[in-house]
Amino acid sequence: MPHDPITDAVLDLIARQDPDVAGLIRKEGQRQATTIELIASENHVSPAVMHAMGTCLTNKYAEGYPGARYYGGCVFHDQVEDIARERAKKLFGCRFANVQPHSGAQANMAAMMALMEPGDTFASLVLKDGGHLSHGMKINFSGRFFRPVHYPLHYPPGHPEHERIDYDAVKALCREQRPKVLMCGYSAYPRVIDFKRFREAADQCGAVLVADIAHIAGLVAAGVHPSPFPHAHVVTTTTHKTLRGPRGGLILTDDEDLAKKIDKALFPGTQGGPLMHVIGAKAVAFGEALRPEFKDYARQVVANARALAAALMTRRYRITSGGTDNHLMLVDLRGRDANLTGADAEQWLEAAGIVTNKNGIPDDPRPPRVTSGVRLGTAAVTTRGMREPQMERIAGWIDRVLAAGLQSPGERESTSRGVRGEVRDLCGQFSLP
Ligand SMILES: *Cc1c(COP(=O)(O)O)cnc(C)c1O
Repeated sequence: MPHDPITDAVLDLIARQDPDVAGLIRKEGQRQATTIELIASENHVSPAVMHAMGTCLTNKYAEGYPGARYYGGCVFHDQVEDIARERAKKLFGCRFANVQPHSGAQANMAAMMALMEPGDTFASLVLKDGGHLSHGMKINFSGRFFRPVHYPLHYPPGHPEHERIDYDAVKALCREQRPKVLMCGYSAYPRVIDFKRFREAADQCGAVLVADIAHIAGLVAAGVHPSPFPHAHVVTTTTHKTLRGPRGGLILTDDEDLAKKIDKALFPGTQGGPLMHVIGAKAVAFGEALRPEFKDYARQVVANARALAAALMTRRYRITSGGTDNHLMLVDLRGRDANLTGADAEQWLEAAGIVTNKNGIPDDPRPPRVTSGVRLGTAAVTTRGMREPQMERIAGWIDRVLAAGLQSPGERESTSRGVRGEVRDLCGQFSLP
């Protein structure tokens, strides 16, 4: 397996001082290299993005923004952050970007702080149907300091739009509750989000529309999913999912007044010193996403998701909403067998080298620790160069492992061992970037 020679050199260097940590990083590298990563929120960054994070940019305090820092010596940090901001604006076609959020949740916290006072009402998706914990979970800051009200995901069973966003319900909720902020954007929604209709709902009560595109940012940047601009007032996102950058967050807007409020709410409102090494890596990743090859990548991510969903459906798995428009799908395992649970599937597949996560499906009768579904995404396998034929093979392996698991523990173990070997071989042919 071709290795990134710089990573090898870095690990040798760490190992001389700290063999314990270096050993674990090496093992994790091996795990990533030899398993199929289907977790929809994960990806493999390029060596350039990876190594930008491991640089001297980390040594500096750069509280404030370019040209207005609270510490001296920020000449080069200013230029790095400026490049990151300019590229983010170009990538998403908007006027203002804040590249400092440490994560997606931090981006949402700053956006909420900028747009609401404690106790104010905001509207978002019912959490169990694919919302995010930073969209109003009771024990999260968003649920403790603000008042979340929720719209249901979907129309009832039998409706042609079953398991898709019910925009009429969103509008009705806005009329009744008059939220100050309306949030859209999800962690497990496989269909196109109609930002225009969300804006219409927001306009009914004068709400600010926040689109959290954490999952689909790479698809939006590549033009493979419609842009939230000009409909959303504020856009928040992570940088590490389909966008394939370092772990981090980003806030975008076209509105100058909102941009000023957001900058203040981020620093000093909710964060201290920015992670400048991560901002350097964001700049590198945004540069990659601006290249034409990234469009090809994003198109293939969606084509692979469609192929994987179709291959599973021919094996009698039910895909919620009947398919996918983006990088992810929710597999309702009960379609294959009423006794299959998400928890079992996740565990059995991991033993075979296929990494997924259990996920509730809409109206799931099982509790969140068990669930009736798994969420699968194709961002990471597409980065390795896999295409439709490989999706077909992966679907076949998934079905073999789950079918064996339903038979007996012994059958499961021997099938897992066999599939594990085949997965290893395939990973050898499609190496990490
Ligand atoms: C992943 C995700 C986030 C949060 O990202 P973190 O970087 O883990 O804080 C926020 N919103 C949505 C919709 C997400 O899917």
